[in-house]
Amino acid sequence: MSNRTFTIIKPDSVRKGNFGKIVSRLEEQGFRILGLKKVALTQRQAEGFYAVHSERPFYKDLVSYMTSGPVYVAALQKEGAVASLRTAMGATDPKKADAGSIRAEFGESIEQNAIHGSDSDENAKNEIAFFFAESELSD
Ligand code: UDP
Ligand code: MG
Repeated sequence: MSNRTFTIIKPDSVRKGNFGKIVSRLEEQGFRILGLKKVALTQRQAEGFYAVHSERPFYKDLVSYMTSGPVYVAALQKEGAVASLRTAMGATDPKKADAGSIRAEFGESIEQNAIHGSDSDENAKNEIAFFFAESELSD
């Protein structure tokens, strides 16, 4: 089991000034930030990042949402990082997310749901590599 995962603090969170609050929660829950940057995703980056969803009906909207404003991308470290972040985030649809989870508190809709988190160790590795060189990461 890897101890790394990857997150995106999504455009709705950045727009509403929730970046700091979300990162603060992650730190409180024991995540260390290995690397962090603010980026405005290009259309190509957003399409590439979410390529696995390219056949889904929500794909086009998802790409325009993810390019609607800057995001923060981060590589995180914690024991059991992938599962732990998924729990901290809550369900994809904020209405169904557990009380106290990040999406329950900060998400607006099933699309504008505040935060991304990798769903497997393999995807975490690939998603970190999508945005960071290993030399940009440190604990
Ligand atoms: N999404 C959407 N409509 C849906 C399902 C997902 O707009 O019906 C968006 C939402 O922003 C979600 C992202 O697409 O976070 C990726 O979907 P996934 O099923 O991977 O959910 P996640 O892993 O983010 O919980
Ligand atoms: Mg996913």
